[in-house]
Amino acid sequence: MKTAVHGKGGIGKSTTSRNTPVASARRGKRVSQTGCDPKHDSTPTLTGSPTPTITDTLQSKDYHYEDARPEDVTHEGYGGVGRVEAGGPPAGAGCGGYAVGETAKSPKESNALHEYDIIPSDVLGDVACGGFASPLNHADYRTTITDNGFDASPATNRTAASVREKARMHPLRSAGPIGNRTLKRDLIDKFVEACPTPVSEAPPPTEHIRVSRVKGKTSSEMVESQPHPNYVCDSHPDTADQALSQPEGIAPKEVSDRESSSSLSDSHSNPIRSEGGGNDQENLLDPAKMIR
Ligand code: ADP
Ligand code: MG
Repeated sequence: MKTAVHGKGGIGKSTTSRNTPVASARRGKRVSQTGCDPKHDSTPTLTGSPTPTITDTLQSKDYHYEDARPEDVTHEGYGGVGRVEAGGPPAGAGCGGYAVGETAKSPKESNALHEYDIIPSDVLGDVACGGFASPLNHADYRTTITDNGFDASPATNRTAASVREKARMHPLRSAGPIGNRTLKRDLIDKFVEACPTPVSEAPPPTEHIRVSRVKGKTSSEMVESQPHPNYVCDSHPDTADQALSQPEGIAPKEVSDRESSSSLSDSHSNPIRSEGGGNDQENLLDPAKMIR
């Protein structure tokens, strides 16, 4: 099962993409996490060190794709999760999208991923065209990471449009957005009202997850390395279970930019005061609620 993960920058795509596979691997699945971002920062927390990129490998083989062996492309990480990083040209040179489009072919040509059950591709931002959309050409599902902020829904809307477009060529479905780093859902719900789609939950803003990134570990590994772990995150295993259930998914129908912007703007200007807070600051997690 191949899933392409998109969403606006900094929303938690890489965090969700690398913690969820660990949970899937613990359920006996063979998973390989593929980073499709030229800055190759998707997989380091699976080993604490950078993964050699496909771009580096191809360069060393003078771009003879046929010479790349599976072990040149996939590297094992924490919990047995495979790590692949597309890489890309140096900053300010070349085209990252082109590099992702080209390197996306390499795992297939070198037969590097055939043994895996689940292959999430963590793609840069919400750029859903050109090479950055190429993982969609191979995917069964698209997932968009979102939050309850004003700027996330236009990105989710755009990615919905790209699924609709790509689904004309092959059976791609949207598994719906995953709400990360949020305790509230009013703006997400507003979007879903206009563009019906199932929504799953990722962790709320969680100090443990922030620190795990800084320490170069997955959230699960960090829990294990604490002598007296006081925090267990259920959200990533829940997200893994939802993916493993192979949801039917939907072919979304995006809303117009004008409709999306005006409904969110109304909602943001007149927030519904729900229990748990009415603005982004109040979304910050009360640590007492997370200690179990
Ligand atoms: P993206 O890949 O979408 O650009 P990242 O996954 O790199 O975003 O996340 C951006 C930052 O937010 C990282 O420092 C990460 O540790 C932090 N982060 C993501 N999700 C959470 C969360 N649920 N709680 C706390 N911090 C988070
Ligand atoms: Mg990322």
